[in-house]
This record gives sequence, C-alpha cells and structure tokens, in this order.
Amino acid sequence: MSVRAFIGLGSNLENPRLQIENALSDLNKIEGTRVIKNSGLFQSPPMGPQDQPDYINAVALLETDLEAESLLDQLQSIENRHGRVRSRHWGERTLDLDILLYGHEQICTARLTVPHQGLAEREFVLYPLQKIQPDLIVPGKGALADLVKACPASGIAFLGTINDSTP
Ligand code: ATP
Ligand code: CA
Ligand code: CA
Repeated sequence: MSVRAFIGLGSNLENPRLQIENALSDLNKIEGTRVIKNSGLFQSPPMGPQDQPDYINAVALLETDLEAESLLDQLQSIENRHGRVRSRHWGERTLDLDILLYGHEQICTARLTVPHQGLAEREFVLYPLQKIQPDLIVPGKGALADLVKACPASGIAFLGTINDSTP
C-alpha cells in the first residue's frame, strides 16, 4: 500500500536552485515513488553557523511504496550523488533531504525520527508545507496552521513556482 510522505529539500552550495530542481526529478525516479506536488522555491537564512550562504528550500509531497527506512536509504544515496560532504553540524551542503512526515506515522529509531524533529520550529519547513497542504495535521504536534501562527516569518522569501515538467 502506498504512503504519502513529505520531504524537505535544502541547498546552499553549487547552484542551489538547480540542485533542488534536479533533486525533485531524482525523487520522482526512486523505485515505487512519484512526486505529486512541490511547494515551489523559498530562500531562507542559514540555521546554525551564520558564515554560510542563504539556503534555497522546498518541500515535495511523494507517494511511495517504500518503507520509511528504505526511503531514507534512497534519499541519502541522492544526497551522495549530489556531492554531499558532511563537515560541520548544520554547515553548508549541496543537498539535504529530510523525511518530514511519513503518512500519519510517528517513528523513533536509531536512524529516523518522524515527524522530523525540527519541523515545528523551522520556517523553511512550515511555510513550504503550507503551500502544499494548508489543512495538514502533524502527528503529535497538531494543526499546521497553528504551528505557522506560532512561527512568524523572519527572513524567508517565496521565490516562485518551479517551471519544468516536474509535477
Ligand atoms: P537536521 O536533522 O537537524 O535537519 P541535518 O539535516 O543537517 O540536521 P544530517 O547530517 O543530514 O542532519 O543527518 C543526520 C542523521 O539524521 C541522518 O544520518 C539520519 O539517520 C538522521 N535522521 C533522523 N531522522 C531523520 C529524518 N526524519 N529525515 C532524515 N534524516 C533523519
Ligand atoms: Ca535537515
Ligand atoms: Ca538531513
């Protein structure tokens, strides 16, 4: 049975906009998986170390036949193909792919926390999620609309929709 999963995308190195656009088409090529919707592109200031470029962010809604950990394997393999190098915590990266939500599940394993642990406090997650599904309920955290109200936009900018063949 397929599950709807929301993926957070972020990049601030090596043509971030192109990294995100290409990552959306990579997500659509994962076995048993397709991208149903995307949020369009956002720009946001960095979290953590401030001596790094602004990020380009987006959220994608997938429909997938994969289990959550298999989906994480696929996301990490896409990150690696985009030249992801893990240097400092919350440091600059060519591509970050996080599982924000996986159906209505709450998961807590060594490799995976779902809903993503930063979801409720991060404007670059909440605002793109709202573009895709404003009436979303986040398991264990409540209505997305309430989370957005509690997280005023400070620095995030909507750059526009993605004009390519990706759904
Ligand atoms: P943050 O998780 O705070 O956004 P980050 O994205 O920079 O930070 P990474 O270095 O990309 O962190 O990932 C560290 C580990 O987080 C991964 O190896 C993965 O096992 C784990 N992880 C836990 N929950 C999730 C999730 N929901 N999505 C993706 N990775 C997760
Ligand atoms: Ca992340
Ligand atoms: Ca990550």
